[in-house]
Amino acid sequence: MSTRVLINGSRGRMGQALLSCIEADPSVSLAAATDVGDDLQSMLGGCDAVVDFSHATSTAGIADMCAITGKALIIGTTGHDDEARGHIAACAKTIPIVFAPNFSVGVNTLFWLTRKAAEILGPDFDLEVIEMHHRLKKDSPSGTARRLAEILAEVRDLDYARDVMHGREGMVGERTAREIGMHAIRGGDVVGDHTVVFANVGERVELTHKASSRDTFAKGALRAACWATCQRPGLYDMQDVLGLK
Ligand code: NAD
Repeated sequence: MSTRVLINGSRGRMGQALLSCIEADPSVSLAAATDVGDDLQSMLGGCDAVVDFSHATSTAGIADMCAITGKALIIGTTGHDDEARGHIAACAKTIPIVFAPNFSVGVNTLFWLTRKAAEILGPDFDLEVIEMHHRLKKDSPSGTARRLAEILAEVRDLDYARDVMHGREGMVGERTAREIGMHAIRGGDVVGDHTVVFANVGERVELTHKASSRDTFAKGALRAACWATCQRPGLYDMQDVLGLK
């Protein structure tokens, strides 16, 4: 039997990619498609899982509705503040939630490689994250870039809020060993590029992923929706869905 999904943010770029991928995927079916102005709550009854790619300010309310009605929730939306993240974690005590800044298999491999490279290369290598997205992207840095920096911080015993240096301007002084540089480039129609730079004196390693189609995120999110409906309540990410943990 197919998993019935409600797509929130359905008129957006990701929403449209999800709708077209659902048509080609027999393991899922469309229960409802909602966007700004629609009454999502009244449409929840016919779905097994909600897939949200909308705006960070709408996620907490959707998580509440899913928790009350017992629906699995897939969150692709990025740009949440700490309060919203805490709220999502609280709702995950009641329902399965897959919360991933990037649903592509390639990027989740990049997450894994980034952890390994940071462990192998050690503290002598300077760490920088560079991301590029299309000119219409609203949040910065991307959720994926933030996750890459979080992984680097975990391995090096650093703190995201304290040690990430967002861009550099003026007399910022020499680079310290504790900082993780973060740089967001915006332009054109770039779907999503991410590079992690490990730089030492005499050598440099760069890990890069480039997405060329939103279908890669959409297919991953639909895979997560099918997976989540069979899980116990909890907060999961795409590494859990792919069995990479
Ligand atoms: P978009 O601006 O093209 O689409 C967003 C849609 O959400 C719009 O149709 C908008 O009307 C709708 N929306 C906004 N507020 C809403 C609300 N309160 N209720 C219902 N609908 C609402 O953006 P996009 O490029 O489709 O990206 C959407 C989100 O997904 C962004 O946060 C983006 O960073 C994220 N994203 C995540 C991944 C991933 O793999 N996790 C991949 C790509 C994009």
